[in-house]
Formats: sequence, C-alpha cells, structure tokens
Amino acid sequence: MTAISADQSALVLFSGGQDSATCLAWALARFARVETVGFSYGQRHLIELESRDALIRGMAALQPEWAARLGERHTLDIPTLAEVSETALTRDIAIEMGEGGLPNTFVPGRNLVFLTFAAALAYRRGIRHIVGGMCETDFSGYPDCRNDTIKALNVALDLGMARAFELHTPLMWLDKAATWTLAGELGGRGLVDLIVEHSHTCYLGERGARHDWGYGCGQCPACSLRARGWRVYAASRENGRAQ
Ligand code: ZN
Repeated sequence: MTAISADQSALVLFSGGQDSATCLAWALARFARVETVGFSYGQRHLIELESRDALIRGMAALQPEWAARLGERHTLDIPTLAEVSETALTRDIAIEMGEGGLPNTFVPGRNLVFLTFAAALAYRRGIRHIVGGMCETDFSGYPDCRNDTIKALNVALDLGMARAFELHTPLMWLDKAATWTLAGELGGRGLVDLIVEHSHTCYLGERGARHDWGYGCGQCPACSLRARGWRVYAASRENGRAQ
C-alpha cells in the first residue's frame, strides 16, 4: 500500500449531526484518507455521538470508494468545557435568549477548543486538512462560527504548531436547505435519506418522534432550523430543481 501524504488526508469534526455528516461526505469525495473526531463535553444531546456509527456504516455501504477512504475514528473527552459553561446544552435548563442577543445554548469558545484539539490530533496523525461544519448563514449568533474567527484561528494554529493547516468550512455560506442540496449532490438520494434517518440535531437529545426531516423534539432551535431547511429543500426537490 502506498503511503498517503498529509495533503491527501483530512480530519473531519464529526458529531453525528446533519452538518457534520454532510461535511464527512464532502471530505470523502475529496481526500484519499479521512479520519473523524467527535467530542464528548457533557452535552445533553450525547445521543448525537451515538449516531456516528450508523452514519459511517451507511456512507461506507453507499459508495465503495468512500469505504476505502474511511480511516480512524477518534473521540476526545473534554468534560472541562461543561465545567466552565453554564449553558442549556450542558445543564438541564430551558433554552432561551440571553443577554447580548446570544441564546443560552452558546458554549463560549466551543469551536475554538474543538478546532485546537483537532489540530493537535491532526498534527500527531500527519494530517493537513481539517474540516468543520461551522456556518455563518444560519448561525444563532455564535461568534465562534464566523468565517473571520475560523480564518484567524487557522493563522494562530499554523504559527503555534509550526504547520500549514488548512481549515475547511464547506457549509460556511450555505443555509440548511442548501446543506440538504449539497448532500444530494455528494451522495444522491441515498445519502440524503441516510442523514435524515441517522443524523441527530435536537439539542434536547430527543429521538422519540420521526418527522419527515428526521428525529427530534421538533420545538428546540436546532429542530426548528432543521425542519425549516428540510421544507424548503423538499419543495425545491419536488419541483425538480434539486436532487
Ligand atoms: Zn429538538
């Protein structure tokens, strides 16, 4: 087997949600070796991490070349993140808007922490490309999802680790409907169906009710956003404008 260079390999921040599942497919379509990393930080929707197995199995079954590209799966425990943040993602409190226009689901600096740990892991694994589902379009006001934040962090990581990482955020300018469309372009109806069935988005970690857009409470901001995006996507697919 020939060695795969750092430039042909990618590490995907893979939580098991719709966005990161789409990012994983995006990376599988581009890189010869793709590893994934998920973070356990005391989130209430820990079930999200359990969806990863079904998604990876499904993607491997969908396209044989993707199966050959899938590499190691990593899970990193960062319990400290919950310790330093009083948020509705890590505590049993209601989701609401807080001061400064940020919802109380905001975990300060979460994506900075995730990307820094991902870069440290990529460094050790000899991987240059790091892929994350950060998105400025639908973002709930999270400043660590902004394109400028990611670009600045890319510079800081390169300087601080003396490497030339490339942080990719393929969803940065897409809304949720366009993210479904991208999944259709990458893996056809099979991939869209897989993501609907197995990805997890709901902040409350509920998988009770099955909606046309997947499982979830249907009420929390994450469910509302996913449902709204699905309706737009499904309507355009009906009209033959999307796959
Ligand atoms: Zn929900």
